[in-house]
Amino acid sequence: MEITPFYVAGQKSTSDDLLDVRHPYDGRTVGRTANATPEQVERAVAAAADVAAEASALPAAARAAALDHVSRRLTERADEVAQLITAENGKPIKWARAEVARGASTFRWAAEEARRFAGELQRLDTDPSAAGRIALVRRFARGPVLGISPFNFPLNLVAHKVAPAIAVGAPIILKPAPATPLTALLLGSLLAETDLPAGMFSVLPVPNDRAGTLVEDPRLPVVSFTGSGPVGYAIREKVPHKHVTLELGGNAAALVCGDWSSIEDLDYAARRIALFGNFQAGQSCVAVQRVFVHEYLEDAFVPRLVAAVEALRTGDPSDEGVDVGPMINEDAAKRVESWVEEAVAAGATVLVGGRRQGATYPPTVLSGVPAGAKVLTEEVFGPVLAVARVTDDDAGFAAINDSAFGLQTGVFTHNLQTAFTAHRTLEVGGVIIGDVPSFRADQMPYGGLKASGVGREGLRSAMDDYTEPRVMVLTGV
Ligand code: NAD
Repeated sequence: MEITPFYVAGQKSTSDDLLDVRHPYDGRTVGRTANATPEQVERAVAAAADVAAEASALPAAARAAALDHVSRRLTERADEVAQLITAENGKPIKWARAEVARGASTFRWAAEEARRFAGELQRLDTDPSAAGRIALVRRFARGPVLGISPFNFPLNLVAHKVAPAIAVGAPIILKPAPATPLTALLLGSLLAETDLPAGMFSVLPVPNDRAGTLVEDPRLPVVSFTGSGPVGYAIREKVPHKHVTLELGGNAAALVCGDWSSIEDLDYAARRIALFGNFQAGQSCVAVQRVFVHEYLEDAFVPRLVAAVEALRTGDPSDEGVDVGPMINEDAAKRVESWVEEAVAAGATVLVGGRRQGATYPPTVLSGVPAGAKVLTEEVFGPVLAVARVTDDDAGFAAINDSAFGLQTGVFTHNLQTAFTAHRTLEVGGVIIGDVPSFRADQMPYGGLKASGVGREGLRSAMDDYTEPRVMVLTGV
């Protein structure tokens, strides 16, 4: 099998430390790459540090041209990229296609942001002592960025690290997830087609037990991490002096408020929650996990939710009609199975569910889940919904906040007052009114409170994150 190269300072590279990538659905080998050696890692870091000043001074036109190129090439090769995402990640092909479209739009949007990222002029003469002075606030790249990405969006979460780095003129070293490196490497090949200076980007598969070298290297002052909480917080503890952003997990909730009561409303909420509880087999940090419904709507809503979940097709993710594919591997599916069994043993009822087959876990809805069960308190990261009634909207908000996490929440309401109360009250990074918590547009600030992380991604937020404001005060103007 051909060995897919990785990129050290923009150059195609390989090593003897081979890494096979398997299809989560049937375990067949779908690609082969290699892990970067310590010498190759050193070369990538040294090159990133060497090119930092040049990268920061790159004209906006050059940065935007590179970003536009990647966007265009992703669109041209959309089908191939989508097939690759499905092969290494197991997500249904229709979701893989959507991911490629989002990736292309993230790069296109980054090109636009690169063109207008200019800083700010502030008046200082609001105080008499500062008469005749103004401040020019410009943002300068902090230096090379280390991006560490998870398996669940092999393109989009990589795009969220790479595109803003190029937009601000920061070199980036991207370390993809070991289960899904191939899409990131394909992206590397598109970056290699651009005129970006050598050293501006590296895509390095590195095993977890060797990734610490990159994290601790003082020449990489920015670490942008997306993944699980324990790994993220351990990284932050290791390098407290660095600028670290953590995009971590959650146990996202949806609330069906008392006013969301027409048949159309209930059908819509049921379909959206069913879909986005099981989207990518639940392996999204904002997949719906906890569902709260106003008690007077419970009898009308829950059967609709069950029917909507039953209507989802599970199976081979290459099949265009399949909604739910496998989890990333059999161990992940076994973990979800054991958490559901634990909840059922403690008194929960299975409204819809079935038996695990290898890495595929069937979409499952539970009710009557006792407080403290892992399917409520932890991040399931699998196709499981736990539904419960609440006495009113405020009780719903309290139930949502009764969580260690705080990423996004969906609130189904038409009531403007309820929407504003939700926005003010909910301890999350994003409140989605009239839809599921799983909605994300790639330019909006995105990230969590509590155990869901530190800082925000989304193009403009990441660009702010990768740069520091520096003020120049002009006198006598
Ligand atoms: P993970 O934490 O196992 O791995 C994430 C990345 O960290 C991978 O690239 C992995 O190789 C790397 N890594 C692991 N150990 C490391 C170490 N010691 N040093 C440096 N890097 C190390 O997460 P995962 O299983 O790939 O992804 C699932 C998690 O990601 C879930 O918790 C999910 O909620 C979270 N996630 C969060 C967001 C968000 O934007 N908030 C988005 C997607 C996924």
